[in-house]
Amino acid sequence: MRDKHGRVIDYLRISLTDRCNLRCIYCMPAEGVGQMSHDDILRIEEIERLVAVAARMGITRIRLTGGEPLVRKGVASLVRNLVDTPGIESVAMTTNGVLLPRFADELTAAGLSRVNISLDTLDVDQFRQVTRNGDLKDALKGIEVALRVGFKPVKINAVTVRSLNQDFLAYAKLSIDRPLHVRFIEYMPVGESSGIDGSGWGKEDVISSEEVLGIINEQARSEGRGALVPVDSTKPEGWGPARYFTFEGAQGTVGFISPLSRHFCAECNRLRLTADGKLRACLFSDEEFDVREALRSGSDEAIHDILEQVLWAKPDEHHDKVGTERGMSQIGG
Ligand code: SAM
Ligand code: SF4
Repeated sequence: MRDKHGRVIDYLRISLTDRCNLRCIYCMPAEGVGQMSHDDILRIEEIERLVAVAARMGITRIRLTGGEPLVRKGVASLVRNLVDTPGIESVAMTTNGVLLPRFADELTAAGLSRVNISLDTLDVDQFRQVTRNGDLKDALKGIEVALRVGFKPVKINAVTVRSLNQDFLAYAKLSIDRPLHVRFIEYMPVGESSGIDGSGWGKEDVISSEEVLGIINEQARSEGRGALVPVDSTKPEGWGPARYFTFEGAQGTVGFISPLSRHFCAECNRLRLTADGKLRACLFSDEEFDVREALRSGSDEAIHDILEQVLWAKPDEHHDKVGTERGMSQIGG
């Protein structure tokens, strides 16, 4: 499947729910979102049907996200059915990790191959501040379990925020002794315009990847460690639009994803499906294509046509528009 800018589109990110067991301040308001009723949310069979049609059109990779995908009932059986869908080569998940100890065995048995775990800080108080109600121990247990059951790769994602004052070096060093791929992602003030983002942060809180890399290297040198060196062709499988580095002799890597300072729109390969059945061509575009009715009462051709419409609507780039009407938990970050 190619869009009108010639990019191959083979990746679909599916938000399974807008709900979550945490309340990260940059992602949702303190009281949660929960605006979608049970009926609004796509049923598991509807998601499976959409993926079957999309796979016939050329989608090969699926990522389940949210909200928190693991609060949705029936995720393991969904994973199994997606893995078994002809044309689908990999099914991955982005999670806050808190529920992984409960579900990891079931998920690996179902065929989930890789996970990205979101963890912004290793500091207990900062973790509680960012997630509003989270316990760092739970997230760390999730990472341990992910390594134990053998997800490959296990990536740990931290959103970098200037006013948070995170210890970037301590975080990067998680990649040394274990095969963990840590990634720093520039904070995107996406919910700003809607007020759904309760952080009070704005564009001035964006800290560029370049600056984070500089801080890590400076601190590493000051403790007698070598700086990060670029990794080229040996990116972990399923690597997205990141630049990779590693510490000498480390088992894992350190990546930087720079949606704002070095946007990767030219390499964009994805479509998004919200939990309430809207297809989105771009994270930053509020244009949505409703596929729910077609999934409930239409033919496969009708679903195919809507997928084509969203494909053709893909903009060439986000043009530095970062505010959206819906927060990340609703769009599916
Ligand atoms: N609950 C899961 C999790 O936290 O991994 C999946 C959904 S969450 C919306 C997906 C990712 O989006 C997380 O890594 C989160 O840190 C990131 N995210 C949410 N809001 C963001 C923002 N404003 N800027 C950058 N990343 C954001
Ligand atoms: Fe939940 Fe993930 Fe949003 Fe945090 S980033 S509130 S864990 S959906």
